Amino acid sequence: METRVAKVDKNSLNILNEASVLLNSGALVAFPTETVYGLGANAFDAEACRSIFLAKGRPSDNPLIVHVEKPQDAEKIAYTCELYYKLAERFMPGPLTVILPKRDIIPPEVTAGLDTVAIRCPRNEVANALLKTSKIPIAAPSANASGRPSPTSAKHVFDDLNGKIPLILDGGECEFGVESTVVTLKDDKITILRPGSVTPNMLLEITGKVEIASAVKEELKAGETALSPGMKYKHYAPRANLYLIDDSSVDFIKYVKLRQNEENCAIMCYDEEISLLHNKNLLPVGKKQDIKKQTKKLFDLLRQADDISVDTVYAHLPSDDGESLAIYNRMIRACAHRVITSDADQNGGRNGKG
Ligand code: AMP
Ligand code: MG
Repeated sequence: METRVAKVDKNSLNILNEASVLLNSGALVAFPTETVYGLGANAFDAEACRSIFLAKGRPSDNPLIVHVEKPQDAEKIAYTCELYYKLAERFMPGPLTVILPKRDIIPPEVTAGLDTVAIRCPRNEVANALLKTSKIPIAAPSANASGRPSPTSAKHVFDDLNGKIPLILDGGECEFGVESTVVTLKDDKITILRPGSVTPNMLLEITGKVEIASAVKEELKAGETALSPGMKYKHYAPRANLYLIDDSSVDFIKYVKLRQNEENCAIMCYDEEISLLHNKNLLPVGKKQDIKKQTKKLFDLLRQADDISVDTVYAHLPSDDGESLAIYNRMIRACAHRVITSDADQNGGRNGKG
């Protein structure tokens, strides 16, 4: 199959119509959102949704997020509640996904057999225009090949899915660069299953009861079931071994300087550190305090690390609170929990559970 990449904005009526016809006829279309690019299918069409799993190589037990044009469109798909509408009023359209009990109209392929469905109302103008034009809810996971970093540009999608889907809508780089915050609700309590650009503090403005699921920061224990099936996969692993250096206990610059000449490695460093390091494979992540930029660049840098074929990548261990929690969660999973601490350093340099 030939894959066409078409530049779009919200006024590209011809191409948006073409994409809508494709979606309504059971085909897949990749499209930009404010978080990452999505690989969309008609959420009411079981066969189209099955083909998402095939194109991505996605495990069939990892459910899809259903994108809707307006928060109240969730009514057709799910059983909503007061807390859903409180969240919708504050964060929709935007980078928040809410898990709700599903209605029968949504096929089990979308929810991987679960009795709940994930709902998101994107604020990216192209995503929103596509939902409006196609007049269907769109089931869409991230548009990467399973196991690769999520795509934040049309090029990333093309690199992974060329030949597998008919159309990629190119709306430029994604605004946030990490996937949406996923939450589940119980009475007046919100549990964060996956951190994103809607932070725990922002959710605390809606209710005093906000919890973070243990799988966000820690490895699942043997036999433990993930509340969000996606959290059990080693999702974002680069081909090289990634090590995160806890610079509260190990001096980052000293540590990587010792290794950068002997090893075939890349270094994800802060912009302020560029002049201190002389490695040919520096991957600057942005200024130390600029968490927004670091978030936006994260997946592109992990892809670049793959492209330069190094054996090892060193990076800072991100902070696990506030805006940085989403980066922490993606990085800790990308490195399979290989964190270098001063203990590990004394034990011969590297430790960790990876
Ligand atoms: P992706 O769109 O590729 O980022 O993947 C969707 C994420 O949403 C995965 O981590 C899923 O596990 C999660 N998800 C989707 N539906 C549900 C659901 N019904 N319950 C819990 N998590 C879900
Ligand atoms: Mg994904």
